[in-house]
Amino acid sequence: MQYRNFGKLQFPVSTFGVGCMRFPTMQTSEGKEKVDEQEAIKMIRYAIDHGVNYIDTAYFYHGGESEIIVGKALQDGYREKVSLVTKCPVWDVEKYADFERFLDEQLEKLQVDYLDFYLMHALDKNRWEKIKALGFEKFYEEAIQKGKIKYRGFSFHDELSVFRSILDEYDRWDMCQIQLNILDHQYQAGVEGLRYAGLKGIPVVIMEPLKGGKLAQKIPADIEAIWEESRTKRSPVEWAFRWLYNFSEVAVILSGVSNMEQLQDNIKIFQEAPAQCMTKEEIKLVDRVREQYESKIKVGCTKCEYCIPCPAGVRIPNIFDLYNQSSMYGSSKEYAMSYQRMMEKNEDATQCVQCGQCENACPQHLPIIQTLQEAHKVLTE
Ligand code: SF4
Ligand code: SF4
Repeated sequence: MQYRNFGKLQFPVSTFGVGCMRFPTMQTSEGKEKVDEQEAIKMIRYAIDHGVNYIDTAYFYHGGESEIIVGKALQDGYREKVSLVTKCPVWDVEKYADFERFLDEQLEKLQVDYLDFYLMHALDKNRWEKIKALGFEKFYEEAIQKGKIKYRGFSFHDELSVFRSILDEYDRWDMCQIQLNILDHQYQAGVEGLRYAGLKGIPVVIMEPLKGGKLAQKIPADIEAIWEESRTKRSPVEWAFRWLYNFSEVAVILSGVSNMEQLQDNIKIFQEAPAQCMTKEEIKLVDRVREQYESKIKVGCTKCEYCIPCPAGVRIPNIFDLYNQSSMYGSSKEYAMSYQRMMEKNEDATQCVQCGQCENACPQHLPIIQTLQEAHKVLTE
């Protein structure tokens, strides 16, 4: 396992961190799906035994079960070996006292006296304004004073400008967590945000390195063919991780492993994970893969949402997103099922009455009405 320095932490942190949001699941006798607790505990301990020392969970992962399972896994001397991270469910915080109420509940579920990092979860512009108004700074001071947490951080989902504001307006962040992968290099915080945090000396943890598994499974043949051109043979998963650990600003890459095989594969990949390891040719190869994925985009929708609400209830950006994703990643069944759920709620393209309101509002000047029809055809085939 490779380790990197992590801001003010007193010990180096493994470049690979276990994200606890996609544990293996099993069917109950009533036919319901639940986490395979024994296997999840086995995986967490296996990771720690093989050098992983960064464990990331959150209040709502697995419907609240993740923190409980992590708590069980960290018994028997495992707690002392890791940096433990969980997150405040910002959207459920209504008043100042809620911050501590959630934290206490989480400490209990995790069976620990303190957290290494307590993150404000999934900050965007609105949530940032909300926690400022509710006094998150005072809460952090008090929680640190009481010994309940060591360090402050946030995870992020919004535009780059919002990311910069969050970093600029509070100078006590000890870390931040962003979504980044070979396809999202300019999405949300993106590479620019990563570099901005790096300039401020704030360690960055990466989430969604495999874009929710899309860069790992069912790789389209034309993409595989590009990867295959490399003289050094690597799996698409290794390329995706390699592109990330190449950045010296990246401190930890979280992977939400869902079975032991994936975990063992990831640990193997991270045995060698030095920064600035990629050659110019390798970076060009990743650029070509990205371009190939992007060439499959059917509609240039930026998800700005200027076109909604549609008077007929059509979820225009969501439909375009499904249309693009089914073209890019080629696993059409998953997207067809999501579209089917929209149809059940009368939010699909057939609801369009062609009033033209959306096309007038769209800054990309997209032919929305016609494209909705094309998307409907593909997603129902
Ligand atoms: S044209 Fe169709 S999709 Fe666009 S706003 Fe009107 S009803 Fe909604
Ligand atoms: S206004 Fe245009 S670009 Fe923006 S979400 Fe709607 S369709 Fe997409």
